[in-house]
Amino acid sequence: MSRFPQARFLVSAAAPGQFPPDLGAELAFAGRSNAGKSSAINALVGRHGLARTSKLPGRTRLLNFFELTPGQRLVDLPGYGYASAPEAERSKWLPLIDALKRRECLRGLFLIVDVRRGVTAGDEGLLDWVAPGQRLHVLLTKADKLGRGEALKALRTATAQLAGRASVQLFSSIDGTGLAEAQGVLREWLG
Ligand code: GDP
Repeated sequence: MSRFPQARFLVSAAAPGQFPPDLGAELAFAGRSNAGKSSAINALVGRHGLARTSKLPGRTRLLNFFELTPGQRLVDLPGYGYASAPEAERSKWLPLIDALKRRECLRGLFLIVDVRRGVTAGDEGLLDWVAPGQRLHVLLTKADKLGRGEALKALRTATAQLAGRASVQLFSSIDGTGLAEAQGVLREWLG
């Protein structure tokens, strides 16, 4: 069943002037390319294919806004981690995410991390990104790829590494591990 039956793609923003009005509540989603961010958004919203928009050519360096209900939005940040991303491109989207962080409506950040890779130096940069009053929740996704023991070990490692800076949980878009827990956080933060 779709959790947000009215969810819809709003806009791809290439400049802060194209962001939706700074009203209501917004949650940002970030992660290394291929970590499973689009799949996580689709699973959380309950709408297969919703976040596919971000994969269209030319949109990969833009901020994609989705409306869940009027006044509740998700923002899909560009995937990072490709060393080949040209400096010119990076210099375009860094001011974008800086502007996003300053929005009154931004409640926090969901950071998507492949459980097999764990929290990396690239992810650490985003831990410092959130402003005071904004919260951070880490989804260790693709948990279905590990056995239960290995997954719990990865959870303990990430919890120690994050040291209270973020809440963290196991997640899988494939088998639904941690889905209810993550939806609970999303609803609470947007609510
Ligand atoms: P993004 O680049 O971070 O948006 O990643 P995608 O959501 O497009 O996923 C990248 C790849 O990982 C795709 O082949 C997905 O099918 C796969 N994937 C994503 N989430 C999961 C998961 O929870 N479990 C497994 N086994 N595969 C996943």
